[in-house]
Amino acid sequence: MSQDNMIKLECTVCKTTTHHSHKNKKTLKERLELSKYCNVCRKNTPHKENK
Ligand SMILES: [Zn+2]
Repeated sequence: MSQDNMIKLECTVCKTTTHHSHKNKKTLKERLELSKYCNVCRKNTPHKENK
């Protein structure tokens, strides 16, 4: 497993990195944006990929 595929998911509201994830080569080109639960905001917020 390569570390290159590791990504961080940052909450777009409070800018905290709350999740870590892996990316496969298929999705590597696109910027990931997901709705995830943020522990700081204590609700689901949009999360952006941040390396
Ligand atoms: Zn947040």
